[in-house]
Amino acid sequence: MAEQHDENLLPEMLPLYYTRHFPQNIFCRWLACGSNPKPLSNRELSFTLADDVYLRYLSINDQKEFQTLLQKKCPQKLDIGAVYNIKPSIGRHDAVVLARELVFDIDLTDYDEVRTCCQQAKVCDKCWKFMVVACEIIHTALQDDFGFQNILWVFSGRRGVHCWVSDYEARTLDSPGRAAVADYLCLITGGENLNKKVHLTNDLHSSIRRSLTIIDKYFEEILQDQEFISSTEGLKSFLKMIPDEALKTLVEGNLERMHKSSLERWDGFVNTYSQYCKENINAIRKMKYLIEEIKIQYCYPRLDVNVTKGFNHLLKSPFSIHPKTGKVSVVFKPEQAKSLKLEEIPTIYSLLDDGAPDNVQHQSNMRVAVKNFQELVFSLEKAEAIRRKNDANASILEF
Ligand SMILES: [Zn+2]
Repeated sequence: MAEQHDENLLPEMLPLYYTRHFPQNIFCRWLACGSNPKPLSNRELSFTLADDVYLRYLSINDQKEFQTLLQKKCPQKLDIGAVYNIKPSIGRHDAVVLARELVFDIDLTDYDEVRTCCQQAKVCDKCWKFMVVACEIIHTALQDDFGFQNILWVFSGRRGVHCWVSDYEARTLDSPGRAAVADYLCLITGGENLNKKVHLTNDLHSSIRRSLTIIDKYFEEILQDQEFISSTEGLKSFLKMIPDEALKTLVEGNLERMHKSSLERWDGFVNTYSQYCKENINAIRKMKYLIEEIKIQYCYPRLDVNVTKGFNHLLKSPFSIHPKTGKVSVVFKPEQAKSLKLEEIPTIYSLLDDGAPDNVQHQSNMRVAVKNFQELVFSLEKAEAIRRKNDANASILEF
């Protein structure tokens, strides 16, 4: 329905949304906790107003001030920045960034060279599966490899997801540390002109093996959804990933003769590859992990590493509205990613219109999202309390 996504209605609707639906209390608690040991007021907020007017270096002391600011400025979009040594403001050029959640931004437009169902801003339930894989891989790595506990997942409002790690060690990580985490998690490298973007060597690192196990759970389904190698174009890009000319010619001949189904063609490729490697001992040395590399190039998360590496990159706040879609940036648990349906994500329009066909379902999904957020904030507050107690004990012992 056209009137459901009318940006002109936003100025009227946003004040109501912020009062009735935005979880202001829990939001301020999350921000305050993540700003600790500095006060909430040292955290930068940024508002985007109508006509792309940006207000940077805003800050709040408490929920009351936040509420007043929201009502006064009525932002179309809400971004969160870093924690400074002083209260940030436009005039204070001496402010220094002290902390910031470790963040990840995964956007489906970065999958345009592999996804076939949609391009650019379009997203459907088929390409959402790339996000499901991304959440599971990144979440598991953050927990198992880095020991992080407080990991928040947020729908970005249109075509991707954001992840915020609030553990103290993550928040206070310096720039080289952030870059190291980003590089560790980044397996797909190279720009548009590079055909083969994944290169695995020697013995596979356990985290890569684990990621491949996760990809394998979804690979056939995604292969069938996306039909990566059914079209002439898709097959051409696929063949370019094979580094051995003789094998490439063999695979090309075999696959072209086959049915166009990507699943069958994939099996055909795997068989040809195995047979070829059996007969050519040298080939296996050159492309031991070719199958794994191709799976990763198709399905592994494509991170915007600059967002992770940057200390004060602004990132859209949970529960902010996407001005173009009206969708709420809902908080979800990583295990819920699979069942998240794009049309069931609450919009500002359906939340505020009792008569809207999606109203009841969107209200209910909004409650789930707020509850997810609450649970995470409670556990963050608990972790912070323990950390402060330990710090206090440690300083007593020093005397
Ligand atoms: Zn799609």
